[in-house]
Amino acid sequence: APPLPSAEGASPAMAQWFACKAQHPDALLFFRMGDFFELFFADAEAASGALDIALTYRGEHQGQRIAMCGVPVHSHEGYLARLIRRGFRVAIAEQMETPEEAKRRKASAVRREVVRLVTPGTITEDSLLEAARPAWLLSLAPDAERLGAAWLDISTGAFETEVLAAEDLPALLARLEPAEILAPPALGLAGAVATAPPRDAARRVAEAYHVATLDGFGEYHPAEIAAAAMAIDYLRATQKDAFPHLSRPVPRGGQGVLQMDAATRRSLEILRAERGGTQDCLLGAVDRTVTAAGTRALAARLGAPLAEVEPIAARHDAVAALLAATPLRAAIRARLKGAPDVARALARLSLDRFAPRDLAAVRDGLARAAAIAEALEHPGGLAAIPPLLAAAGRALRPSPDPGAELARALAESLPARLDDPGIIAPGYDGELDALRRLRDDARGAIAALQLDLAQAWGVAALKVRHHQQFGYLAELPAAAGEKLLREAPATATGAFAPIHRQTMANGHRFTCAALADLDRRLSEAADQAARREKRITRHLRELCLAAAPGLTAAAEALAEIDLHAAAAELAAEGGWCRPELTERPEFCITGGRHPVVAAALARNRAGAFVPNDCDLSPGRRICLLTGPNMAGKSTFLRQNALFAVLAQAGFYLPAEAARLGLVDRLFSRVGAADDIAGGRSTFMVEMAETAAILNLAGPRSLVVLDEVGRGTATWDGLAVAWAVLEALHDRTRCRTIFATHFHELTALAGKLPELTLATMRVKEWKGEVVFQHSVGPGAAERSWGLHVARLAGVPRVVLARAAQVLEALEARARGLDPLSEELPLFARPPAGPAAPTDPVPQHPALEALAAIDPDTVSPREAQQTLYRLQALL
Ligand code: ADP
Repeated sequence: APPLPSAEGASPAMAQWFACKAQHPDALLFFRMGDFFELFFADAEAASGALDIALTYRGEHQGQRIAMCGVPVHSHEGYLARLIRRGFRVAIAEQMETPEEAKRRKASAVRREVVRLVTPGTITEDSLLEAARPAWLLSLAPDAERLGAAWLDISTGAFETEVLAAEDLPALLARLEPAEILAPPALGLAGAVATAPPRDAARRVAEAYHVATLDGFGEYHPAEIAAAAMAIDYLRATQKDAFPHLSRPVPRGGQGVLQMDAATRRSLEILRAERGGTQDCLLGAVDRTVTAAGTRALAARLGAPLAEVEPIAARHDAVAALLAATPLRAAIRARLKGAPDVARALARLSLDRFAPRDLAAVRDGLARAAAIAEALEHPGGLAAIPPLLAAAGRALRPSPDPGAELARALAESLPARLDDPGIIAPGYDGELDALRRLRDDARGAIAALQLDLAQAWGVAALKVRHHQQFGYLAELPAAAGEKLLREAPATATGAFAPIHRQTMANGHRFTCAALADLDRRLSEAADQAARREKRITRHLRELCLAAAPGLTAAAEALAEIDLHAAAAELAAEGGWCRPELTERPEFCITGGRHPVVAAALARNRAGAFVPNDCDLSPGRRICLLTGPNMAGKSTFLRQNALFAVLAQAGFYLPAEAARLGLVDRLFSRVGAADDIAGGRSTFMVEMAETAAILNLAGPRSLVVLDEVGRGTATWDGLAVAWAVLEALHDRTRCRTIFATHFHELTALAGKLPELTLATMRVKEWKGEVVFQHSVGPGAAERSWGLHVARLAGVPRVVLARAAQVLEALEARARGLDPLSEELPLFARPPAGPAAPTDPVPQHPALEALAAIDPDTVSPREAQQTLYRLQALL
């Protein structure tokens, strides 16, 4: 940012601006001036450009015109959102007193202070947040060998911690997709806010929860506490006096979660698709939740599936129960539909940044919760409620429960803003009712006074109207007004004596002692009613905050019940099966379907999805899959990887039957690996990602790999693919599906005992290639490439030449093979199913070669033969 001019010679308000700006030099300063937030100097230039609003100039500072632009307070959220999205941070300076208060203390400007620093990770406004995604603020604190991580969502109060190895950081970032990161500069994270770990971390965290020690919260690694303290410090710095309600930090302890790196998440398109709409990712395809909190919980689950049998089975039990009890599921979903986002409302209440509808959200959320708790207490048809649902059901009835109080207190239809009257229902508070009656009586009295004045002043057209600046005034048409001015002293006396206030183009405004008196009484009553209403509203807010832990738990329970009911709904819709999870290294799927591709086919009426089996049980851990392009290889790879995600996240599977040994790490390398932005070649990226697998995968991991080695020259690529397959088989010993277009690899079937061959079935029908999308045993016919070229209309002479070249290449490959017995690297594959091929014309060199009997030639003849053969090429 350009250097700030010095504050010398600034007006009193501008001096405040300089003081606020000095506290937050790297943020744009929204400086409250009446009904606008104004920006000045370089801030104004940056904001007017980013927001496409007019830049103006106002006054001078040290001989320079002051650049400025502004946004109206009532619509500032939208502008704020755009600035935050464009990477700005915004400091909000509010007026801390009214102009009257400033006048009373003889100050030359109203006092202003920065009340909040808005950053991507500290947003609470609904209009700035994505309803279905958490907005994580992640803080990282490295210690000697590990990395402490803490992440919180200020908009819901969720707070979690983990201690991890430094090399797992990319996977954590991929899982959380944090909105904002706090990290020491030494970590070298682009875009992170530079922070240093605070001293006395445990005490600082304990203070935030008003406890003496964290012992009762759980067990944390010191680095986790350091990270948590950093996050809390940041909240104090950005939220100033307000501090959000936060749940206790939950230590996640990496162990229990299925590990997936960024490339795997991208490749599997779990939370978003590379191309296409939201429906085209896993989240979009399986989302049957009916609340925003439910969708957030779903995204969190798919992003972090579990890696322990029991908690997964507990989730499956919950789904099973709701799948069996259709009426219960329907009742629950009907009651959930349209339920408000209690967690986010509570966050705004705790930060004192709320609107009347946030109180209503708590009221309505509690009503829904009670209704669902009741449904769970009468689970017709279910012998027993599984533990997860039972626990959630209990959390639906929080104690204390401010629901009844809110229901009595809040008016039926609420104003949009906290400053507007009418939040509190009549009958709730006697004093408020009395003040309102006074106010309304005074209003009635005004109407009566209008009649009296019309009569006293002899002007039928007289109207008493409220005027922003002067209060109630009697308005008279021009002629009547002038007449009254002339005759006034004689017309009326005493309390009704007219006092002229204002001449307008088409009339006059008058008041009189009676009207002024009434006006004062009315505004006093309105003021008092407003003050009383505000006090009650604050009381209601406090009730909610006092109940915050229970409310948070109830909101989480609602989300969890939504999630289980949605999973059951999905399973019911598609006839999905409950996966059996085991501790053995097995993976056995019968009739599996890709959840996203199958849904897309159904949506577009593009034919039925062909179900496929997959068996990677011990003895057949590696499946080598061949088949031409478009045959369905990558769909098959992704589908099986997604089964691990879905099953371990607690969902049923789109399959007839499924038995899965727990997966600790999942690797998927399917689809483009280009890293154009990163400046690395496709092959480099591919190799880096393959290296990660070889280094990190173990016997409990699941790996799906597509076309390793495609990014480089044929022999290089084949050599690398070959060696990777061997290493996966012998060293890593993970379950693997390996798709390849290197036909030569099928030769490994004889060498690696746990490798099985599979191929996508393809046939020719009436001159067209028909992809059957079904996986069968064996290897693909190698001539499919030429065959497809023929069907695509490549001229016959070109095809014949291609066939010649192919033969020659294969011959050369055989000739290059030094140890064909031990290492049948390029030997002909085992015969697959017969496939149509064109009769291939023999090359003369090959014919000559075939005629030689190697056993009878002398060394000298052999050399001569080689020369002869070469001449034939
Ligand atoms: P490959 O990886 O072999 O090039 P893909 O997996 O990309 O092939 O599949 C190509 C297309 O075939 C997909 O877009 C999909 O529409 C269709 N497809 C794949 N698998 C199936 C299946 N099992 N049933 C029906 N259609 C499928």
